[in-house]
Amino acid sequence: MKIIHPLPLLLAALLLGSSSGRADLTVASLSTITTDLAKNIGGTHVKIEAIIKPGIDPHEFEPTPSDVKKVAKADLVLFTGKGMEGFLTKLEEAAGVTGKFVNVSEAVPTLMMTDEGRKVEDPHWWHSVENMKRATRLVTDRFEQADPANRGYYTGREKEYLTSLNELQRWSRVKVAELPSSRRKLVTSHDALQYFARDYGFTILPVKGISTAEEASSQHVKEIIGVIRSQGVKAVFFENIENSRAVNQIAAETGARTGGVLYSDGLGDTEASTYDSMMRHNVNTIVDGLK
Ligand SMILES: [Zn+2]
Repeated sequence: MKIIHPLPLLLAALLLGSSSGRADLTVASLSTITTDLAKNIGGTHVKIEAIIKPGIDPHEFEPTPSDVKKVAKADLVLFTGKGMEGFLTKLEEAAGVTGKFVNVSEAVPTLMMTDEGRKVEDPHWWHSVENMKRATRLVTDRFEQADPANRGYYTGREKEYLTSLNELQRWSRVKVAELPSSRRKLVTSHDALQYFARDYGFTILPVKGISTAEEASSQHVKEIIGVIRSQGVKAVFFENIENSRAVNQIAAETGARTGGVLYSDGLGDTEASTYDSMMRHNVNTIVDGLK
């Protein structure tokens, strides 16, 4: 009786498996923004574990035990920083690791904001394309340190991505220029667009403070309604991650249009699912809404 030995076949399958591009780096990402950035720089050499997915409010997120496991196993853990990830210390402790956490906003100059009377860092830095370019350089550096064998690959992708960010920046400036400076007044339901406003010359009239958990007080809503009327603001905007009651109320009482949804705290899952398309969506929505 002839015995067919399965080992050579098995071995061939294993070899094929390993040559079909297993990632060299595993990166856990605590923001949809850092997930997109890691994809752009990492390409086929990086496997990404997206912990925070589109539509999840990062201000309110709590990691599950399975998230903790993914973070513990990753080579690097990317987060957006400046106080956005309130769960960070707990997550580091639970995963039992610290050295591999990468604060992507380390390279970005901070704007301050007021939250319940306290001065805090504004965490929504990626609404400035200039800031995203700094973040791109930082993430590339960290990938190259962690995986020096693929240094040239990451540098090449960094160059390509910076080119596309420059193009995005040019396009945004041309689009915003359609709007006279007197119309560049933004009413949003949490103060997420300060970096955007600085870059493009807008004034922000927030409906409530930093946290999406905070309910807008009726006093605050009244103040905003007064400001919208006196300044002749044409539109108010919703955000993708929260309750829009206050915005609707303000629109109804002032006669301002509701200008559509802005992606304030992260990317969408179909619309605005990349950094590039999110920025284009927000710029178009804001400019067309306020015309
Ligand atoms: Zn936010």
